[in-house]
Amino acid sequence: MHERLIDISPMVSPRLGVFPGDTPVERHVLLDMHHGDAITLSTLRSTVHVGAHADAPSHYDRDGRTIAEQPIELYVGPCQVVRANAKRGQPVTRDMVEAKLTTPRVLIATGTFPDPDHWNDDFAPLSVELVDFLHESGVKLVGVDTPSVDEVTSKDLPAHRRIAQHDMAIIEGLVLRDVLAGTYELIALPLRLEGFDASPLRAVLRKT
Ligand SMILES: [Zn+2]
Repeated sequence: MHERLIDISPMVSPRLGVFPGDTPVERHVLLDMHHGDAITLSTLRSTVHVGAHADAPSHYDRDGRTIAEQPIELYVGPCQVVRANAKRGQPVTRDMVEAKLTTPRVLIATGTFPDPDHWNDDFAPLSVELVDFLHESGVKLVGVDTPSVDEVTSKDLPAHRRIAQHDMAIIEGLVLRDVLAGTYELIALPLRLEGFDASPLRAVLRKT
């Protein structure tokens, strides 16, 4: 049987926007069969916060777990995609999320970062009030279709900090444009990168 998966990851390429000052994607070709080598072989240089990626707690909490120390069970299982009535440049509040939350993983489609190949600064962050509401609803993982759960210029990172207090996991950089609201199975495993503060992942949904 050919079971269809819904890909919610952007293409990883040098076009992909990264945070100002972070390391963009580069591919260095060491060997190339098109130029007579026996194999093709290349090196990837990039921020680990590239495309769809999981933030490790160690990214925003001095004592937080690294990405290799995160329980992998967080990243596979029942998941709800919800659409928020979000506006660019304004935090997503609780009343913008109208759906009843029923799963431990919630992906919030804000629509405020429409094209990962064209970076825009004014994507909608998550309000602390919404993070509290997610926690009270039993949510253990929150995913967003923006590069960050906080504003691009934020230094105090209120949403990241509150998520750390509640020990929730974060996935950023998802592409949820064509995904219908509803419940799915999420499969989005980070790599086992020793000591790292994040990992890119291939995030997919399976209809349940
Ligand atoms: Zn990140």
